[in-house]
Amino acid sequence: MTHVYGNILGLIGHTPLVKLNRVTNDISATVYAKLESCNPGHSTKDRIALHIIEAAEKKGLLKHGSTIVETTSGNTGFSIAMVSIIKGYQCILAVSDKTKAEKIAYLKALGATVYICPANVAPDDPRSYYEVAKKIAAETPDSIYINQYFNELNIDAHYQSTGPEIWEQTEGKITHLIACTGTGGTLSGSAKFLKEKNPDIKIIGVDASGSILKGFHETGTINHSDIHPYQIEGMGKNLIPSALLFDKIDEFIRVNDELSAHRTREIALKEGIMGGYTTGAVVQGLLQYATTHEFSKEDVVVVIFPDHGSRYITKVYSDEWMTEQGFMNNDVLNDEKVFKT
Ligand code: PMP
Repeated sequence: MTHVYGNILGLIGHTPLVKLNRVTNDISATVYAKLESCNPGHSTKDRIALHIIEAAEKKGLLKHGSTIVETTSGNTGFSIAMVSIIKGYQCILAVSDKTKAEKIAYLKALGATVYICPANVAPDDPRSYYEVAKKIAAETPDSIYINQYFNELNIDAHYQSTGPEIWEQTEGKITHLIACTGTGGTLSGSAKFLKEKNPDIKIIGVDASGSILKGFHETGTINHSDIHPYQIEGMGKNLIPSALLFDKIDEFIRVNDELSAHRTREIALKEGIMGGYTTGAVVQGLLQYATTHEFSKEDVVVVIFPDHGSRYITKVYSDEWMTEQGFMNNDVLNDEKVFKT
């Protein structure tokens, strides 16, 4: 293999699986992490940005200088900005005014135009980032709105890449797939592919405490009392995304901010893998799942590590931030009682 590419987009996908050797020691299964931070934009969102933009190109919706619009300050924004640079498109992102200056600077460094919109207005308020993005997309000729929560190409990106990669990398031996769900695209697309190969593979979604996804999976209704603010970024939601195929998911696990933060730091210290906040969340989800489900030595578990820890240096990896949250003094990972709830 030469590893020589025509441009940065050639590096998207084909991310490695890495065996976890210490943090999941108590589980008898073999556990592999799929390191989506090895994408060139350092997250799984590179896959959907490229897939959705190339699908629009195939439909003839884009020409040189066209505009790609999305409402995100997170990983999807970085990925769209990167793809837009290579393909010669304008990237416009509508973000909330809660977004850290650091993130806005990152997006601008990748050439994005960033509209900062008030967070404390209703989604249908013309000033909200949803409405601003929709208006820009409607008024800009030759533009597309990525709309990742309601775009079936988000699922398709993972059906065509992440799922097949996991199947090949485990030589069809995978028994459990576990991932955090935000839009739901990563887990749904991968699950759709893997269940076609082997319907017995267990698909486990990890939801945030404060989000409605787990409750909706169990009851088919939105339980408004489930909704409360939480710190983990990129997972959980207060609406039901159509990119989340609930019928492909066997079970949801709900994790909290504190345990997920400590777990993220533990993974860095014990495995040398510096992942984002949802990297800790997914491992926490697996460990909670293992308290009620038996694994055998033959089981092969794949956990998706969605992004890189460098984006969280002032958050979970900061002692000051952990102290501000009231997380720092607790030995929660070793507290059986907290761990099992
Ligand atoms: N973790 C992080 C850090 C993310 O940015 C996202 C995407 N929102 C996810 C997990 C969940 O991925 P998906 O949207 O495909 O469900």
